[in-house]
Amino acid sequence: MPADDHQIRLGGRQVGRAGAGGVPGAHGCSDVDLGGSGAHQSAEPALGVGALGARTGNPPAPACRGRRFVCLGRGNVTDPPPASLVAHVAGPFDRSAVPEGHTIYRQAREHNHTLRGYAVRADSPQGRFAAGAALIDGRTLLRAEAVGKHLFHQYDGQLWLHVHLGLYGEWRTGTPPFPPARGALRLRLWTENVWWELRGATACEVLTRPEVTAIRNRLGPDPLRRNADPDRVYARIGRSRAPIAALLMDQSVLAGVGNVYRAELLFRHKIDPHRPGRDVSPEQWAAMWIDLVTLMRDGVRRGRIVTTRPPYRRRSRVYVYRRTGEPCLVCGTPVRTQTLLARNLFWCPVCQPHSATTGDGSGTGAW
Ligand SMILES: [Zn+2]
Repeated sequence: MPADDHQIRLGGRQVGRAGAGGVPGAHGCSDVDLGGSGAHQSAEPALGVGALGARTGNPPAPACRGRRFVCLGRGNVTDPPPASLVAHVAGPFDRSAVPEGHTIYRQAREHNHTLRGYAVRADSPQGRFAAGAALIDGRTLLRAEAVGKHLFHQYDGQLWLHVHLGLYGEWRTGTPPFPPARGALRLRLWTENVWWELRGATACEVLTRPEVTAIRNRLGPDPLRRNADPDRVYARIGRSRAPIAALLMDQSVLAGVGNVYRAELLFRHKIDPHRPGRDVSPEQWAAMWIDLVTLMRDGVRRGRIVTTRPPYRRRSRVYVYRRTGEPCLVCGTPVRTQTLLARNLFWCPVCQPHSATTGDGSGTGAW
């Protein structure tokens, strides 16, 4: 099965195939409510094929009036959009880096800014999400929200669009007219003022409230949410023999952290990625959490991940991520890499010594 193959699920029923099954690493978070005012919700038929049939009268998408289109107001992108735009919309480094929580938060914010309160048009030029797009077409977006690496759109009529970009997904945006529909264009959303295109997502599905709740209940606390509880994370980390590097990437322990934040957080706190979670002290975790919240909020603000402090920032914006064999910015030792659970670890063996009793243990993120 291709990586982006999943089923459209409606009210627990499969009504069509749209691309990829399940969300890898999509686990839990019970401390967040579903939100959404519901004030504009209208009475709608129960979800299912009947509802689907009721909304298949899609007016055609507006015709493209030319090849020129604008992405995020940055100019003519008849050619491929600038790398900075792709990085902003899709991920922090390149197409092989899974977008981390800060990227999804920025997407939710921009979707709220451009689509919230509008009757949003939707279609699926590729056809694989045609049934799902027909369900949300013409409905008012009440709220877009990020939870970890998951994006939820709440539409009137108790419908939620759920998107997980996975490794290959990306959003692009611009102002009308549309660019020509090219490639595997899974979902297109638009109003008279803006369009959004989604390609390559691991999950793109329309869900009911219980299904959204089930996803959220599987996610651990999200450092970008103000009510996130670091003690809940430590309750998992502090009793686990699993490497801290694996625990930080487990979305049921902590939601939104990906490979870049993991590598950089461990370096900043001088912790060997192989150290068992139970050998990370409560004090170290408390310092790591504060640092992680700060770094991720900074990532939301900048639209990219920057973890180095002056004077190291002049040489690199990260300490170890994807710097295999290059000298550690702090001590000059070649940065090492190793595969753990199918993802690459990056660390400095000197700055992050292989012992729970070495390192300064201060957890102050001095680097
Ligand atoms: Zn070092």
